Amino acid sequence: MGVKIEKALYIKTKKMMTNIEADKHELNGEKFICPYCKTELTFRRSGKRQLENRLIPILPYFYLKQGNEHGRNCEYNTFGKIEILARKAMNLKDFMEKKKPDQYAIRMQVVKQAMEEPPEEEEDVRTADSKGKGVTASKNYKNSGTMAPYLSRMKDIMILRSKMEKNDDIRKYLKLEYKGRTVNWDKFYFGPDNMSLLDLSKYFRNNTELEHPICIEGIIKKYIEKKDKRGKTYYSFILEKTTVKDIDAGGFRHIPCVSVNVYEGYGKLIEYMKDNYKKHNKQIVAYGHNPYVKVNPSSDNTAKFHNITIWINRTAQVHLFNDVYENLFEE
Ligand SMILES: [Zn+2]
Repeated sequence: MGVKIEKALYIKTKKMMTNIEADKHELNGEKFICPYCKTELTFRRSGKRQLENRLIPILPYFYLKQGNEHGRNCEYNTFGKIEILARKAMNLKDFMEKKKPDQYAIRMQVVKQAMEEPPEEEEDVRTADSKGKGVTASKNYKNSGTMAPYLSRMKDIMILRSKMEKNDDIRKYLKLEYKGRTVNWDKFYFGPDNMSLLDLSKYFRNNTELEHPICIEGIIKKYIEKKDKRGKTYYSFILEKTTVKDIDAGGFRHIPCVSVNVYEGYGKLIEYMKDNYKKHNKQIVAYGHNPYVKVNPSSDNTAKFHNITIWINRTAQVHLFNDVYENLFEE
């Protein structure tokens, strides 16, 4: 179905229509065409996402009719977008490589290496601290940030995926590799639904050696200030839980509880996240590695909470957006 589209040409009236207008006119399943390449599109009305304590509407959108593709140079062509990323001026050969006429591969170990560089804010601390502290510190500082462009490209890829409904919409165009091994998209991009987040929980509990980066998508419910065991302050951005009705053989409901955490030293990132939250951009997709997963039973012993925590330290690791319908009318 490709990327979700917000404007299309209505075949019946030959006029452009927005997703909101089409929703108001209840044009579910009606025929539209892509304003750029004239490929046939279908319309999907506003959907609902059931959260723990309320139902939220999701933006309606136009999408590719089954079996159709956008034109080669169309604004909405997925592979076209990937090619644009691959062309972005920098030496990306070790990150992105064209494998087939319609497929690139990315090497996630490069992203992992880039994440191991000290992030911006830490660099500042380092400069202050490193005065007269010897060669190692100043050498680290000089080299830091040289791989930052890889993190930006990773973010671009994550954003592109977040504009689609499923991993299936991107996997044939973009292959994920980590140290020569192929990583399935379903083991890389998790959420926002329960099943996918429970897969994440299982995947990381069963494979403690896993090192490749992963993405998590969800909606931020709130953020709180907390202290770790050493008394270091951090912000915990807690994602909304979705309603789980399924009960396993032992009588438990399995509920994913996701937090995206940031230590207080990363002020720029915290500001970025708080600022977006205030602007109603509460949908989040973040990438990192080594998510921390722990399963705890509820106090009444009817549910098991799959606590999933991911730590991030730079803005390149997070994208905040809003395709929740109601907020468009609130503003
Ligand atoms: Zn098109």
